[in-house]
Amino acid sequence: MTTLGHLINGSRVAGEGRHQDIFNPSTGEVGSRVSLASKATVEDAIAAAEAAFPAWRDTPPAKRARVMFNFKQLLEQNADEIARLIGQEHGKIVHDAKGELQRGIENVEYACGAPELLKGEHSKNTGPGIDSWSEFQPLGVVAGITPFNFPAMVPLWMYPMAIACGNTFVLKPSERDPSAVLYIAELALEAGLPAGVLNVVNGDKEAVDTLLDDARVQAVSFVGSTPIAEAIYARASANGKRCQALGGAKNHAIVMPDADMDNVANSLTGAAFGSSGERCMALSVAVAVGDDAADAMIDKLKAQMPSLKVGPYHDADNDFGPVITRAHQEQVCGYIDSAEQQGASIVVDGRGVQVPGHENGFYVGGTLIDHVTPEMTCYQEEIFGPVLLVVRARSMEEAMQLIDDHEYGNGTCIYTRDGEAARYFSDRIQVGMVGINVPLPVPVSYHSFGGWKRSLFGDLAAYGPDAVRFYTKRKTITQRWPSSGVREGAQFSFPS
Ligand code: NAD
Repeated sequence: MTTLGHLINGSRVAGEGRHQDIFNPSTGEVGSRVSLASKATVEDAIAAAEAAFPAWRDTPPAKRARVMFNFKQLLEQNADEIARLIGQEHGKIVHDAKGELQRGIENVEYACGAPELLKGEHSKNTGPGIDSWSEFQPLGVVAGITPFNFPAMVPLWMYPMAIACGNTFVLKPSERDPSAVLYIAELALEAGLPAGVLNVVNGDKEAVDTLLDDARVQAVSFVGSTPIAEAIYARASANGKRCQALGGAKNHAIVMPDADMDNVANSLTGAAFGSSGERCMALSVAVAVGDDAADAMIDKLKAQMPSLKVGPYHDADNDFGPVITRAHQEQVCGYIDSAEQQGASIVVDGRGVQVPGHENGFYVGGTLIDHVTPEMTCYQEEIFGPVLLVVRARSMEEAMQLIDDHEYGNGTCIYTRDGEAARYFSDRIQVGMVGINVPLPVPVSYHSFGGWKRSLFGDLAAYGPDAVRFYTKRKTITQRWPSSGVREGAQFSFPS
């Protein structure tokens, strides 16, 4: 059986010591193994990144950008293979895997603009004969730690921009689906990145802790669940590192009585069940305003859901695939059990779904649960499965209050035909990314991605303009060249 190792200083390094099985969630079988890096292996990767930094820092931004142009082309040329690798270890259907790759490629495109983005700011004559400018200098070695659910896109949120800004990078991807990550990193090397500029170490807590504690690592970008994000932010910050840690979510959609219910049902179906609900922007709670809206929405969903196709990743006719592990399958079904026990109504039940020929895969069918209330466990916690909860509210204010009271604030959406209501909602709601009749308002690559409340720890969001700030430090230079013969005496008052 293949054991995946690491990519350090431009070469694949065989793993040694501890390792973990990688499953094919569509079949439930183990496909390969991944090595879990020791502290020493991670230190080798950091050393390689540190050694590569001085030359990369001094490489002109236009040359760095040229590597990104090549990288983009290679990603496009190899999209089929990348989608296959994602599907095999993650379980998402190939069309969905290609969608995530495309969103990742858009971040590479943004990084191609590095010369423009790093131009800095210049002011001439800030005083007599004095000029002043700000530069955005790279930080040095930067680490990224990424989740299983977007093995291509989330790493591409991080290292293209970090590297285009002149940093060198150590990536610790999810140990559950690392093949696509390694394959893509090799394409980045093929595109022209010098050895050591991008390193990938596979591993678990031991690898992450090494990255968080090593003084050579200047900044840490993390995406994953909230408890881990919070712990990582605390530890990295205590160690004096810059850190952004994006966490979990519970994204609500408000369905107003005037909404187009066909559109609501179509888009909720995709946004709740696509990728088996394993998206941090999945819409997992529909808050219907008024019983009439709730009943109309549920009727439409009930009519659509029997035609949902759940099955293995390689069949492009499927709508969504399995969840990531057997343990996660059991956890998702446990949330459905708890909803039932706590008094909610299971309208469509995805527990025990069978996929012929793939009986051991980790499948959960699309599930719709009505009469959910805020006290219920299924409402309070992130389920991360193909489960849509319906909460009934009496007014828009009550619906908005629910959203504001929830600990997460990643994404949200309102379905309405009323521009005034939509404007009020987008202005007041305490959530970082808002959709108006748009179910998955994931910002494009030239904006930035970030939730509020316990969905993001740190000051700057991921990718886009915030990434330029996150991966650089500002230096402001004030310059004067006294003309010969002019000499001032000492000045004791503050310069003004
Ligand atoms: P996870 O938190 O289990 O793992 C994320 C990363 O942290 C992995 O690389 C993992 O190896 C590492 N890790 C796990 N336990 C650790 C520990 N004790 N100490 C140090 N590192 C540890 O998350 P996941 O299950 O891979 O991904 C799903 C979660 O990620 C969901 O909560 C989802 O909402 C969230 N997510 C958020 C965003 C966002 O942008 N906000 C995007 C994608 C996923």
